[in-house]
Amino acid sequence: MERKMKAEIAVMTAENIDEDAIRRGGEILKNGGLVAFPTETVYGLGGNALDPKASMKIYAAKGRPSDNPLIVHIADIRDLDRIVTEVPEKARILADKYWPGPLTMILPKADIVPKETTGGLDSVAVRFPSDRIAQELIRSAGGYVAAPSANTSGRPSPTTAQHVAEDLGEAIDMIIDGGQVNIGLESTIVDFTEDIPVVLRPGYISLEMLQETLGDVRMDKGLIKPDSKVHPKAPGMKYRHYAPKADLAIVEGPTEQVISEIEKRAKEAEEKGQKVGIIATDETKGRYSHGIIKSIGSREQEETIAHHLYEVLRDFDSCNVSAIYSEAFFTPRMGQAIMNRLLKAAGHKIINVQEEKENDSTGM
Ligand code: AMP
Ligand code: MG
Repeated sequence: MERKMKAEIAVMTAENIDEDAIRRGGEILKNGGLVAFPTETVYGLGGNALDPKASMKIYAAKGRPSDNPLIVHIADIRDLDRIVTEVPEKARILADKYWPGPLTMILPKADIVPKETTGGLDSVAVRFPSDRIAQELIRSAGGYVAAPSANTSGRPSPTTAQHVAEDLGEAIDMIIDGGQVNIGLESTIVDFTEDIPVVLRPGYISLEMLQETLGDVRMDKGLIKPDSKVHPKAPGMKYRHYAPKADLAIVEGPTEQVISEIEKRAKEAEEKGQKVGIIATDETKGRYSHGIIKSIGSREQEETIAHHLYEVLRDFDSCNVSAIYSEAFFTPRMGQAIMNRLLKAAGHKIINVQEEKENDSTGM
């Protein structure tokens, strides 16, 4: 089915940037319009961060609740001081080490940042992305671009321009297509408004990496026990996010038991005339014989799992499956970030097949 596309699509690569299109994108942003663009994490939906009307347009286009603040993207470290009132020493150290890169810092906001951009909060989330297309667009827009992920609220974040077009092609002015993103999961968010820095959202930069640089860093309590009464501090983390259309459950336990549990469920569904989706890995995909099997990547290369997670969830939306079962991915470095997103996509539905007599602690 052909859908009406309002957005101009500008295709380019980081090595071969279309300067004219960047200039047009910058003008659209300066005039209060919306431009989606690639970053190293996921595609962002940009609007002028200092223009309250542009921020409100972002919420409207995404269908995002307006108490869920936006991240302000900068492309020059010297631009930071204009939008915050204070940069603690530890935040400077992190910026030196990880900017430009997949790190967002929460700092006390300056008056110039409208409350519409920060969801009514006195703090502002700031990131300096490493993607060159993103940097050029931000510069050409005047330096401050508010950009949440460029998906309809509740859908998996976009990792290609096609995903953006599917969700927002009719609602925004321009999409810069810079190909598939590099990391595939949103940035790590660190809150510096308390004495000890707190991770509000895990990402490519792990808690351990932050502790190595800063010493004491905590994980937000609302993330550790998502079912408890403790709410995550980042307003966005409380919403069910990244959800595929079919019900998703994560099957956890020793590898062999996980495979036989998923096989059993897929077979039962097939006998009832239903199809299930299975999220497997390169190592396990050959072990399943029922349902629609998609490999998310290799356990030997956890980056590949992060990279494909949202794409696989989106792919299943067009497969007409009645349920999706996923293996669990507690990989060494990015496992925290991957499982955080997968658990949210699954509404925290976990099937634990760990048997008591098993003491295989290396299970999935
Ligand atoms: P997204 O823009 O889709 O990557 O989501 C941005 C995330 O940052 C959401 O989870 C927000 O709730 C969170 N966030 C942005 N600004 C703040 C802030 N000032 N304090 C706490 N969390 C924030
Ligand atoms: Mg998002």
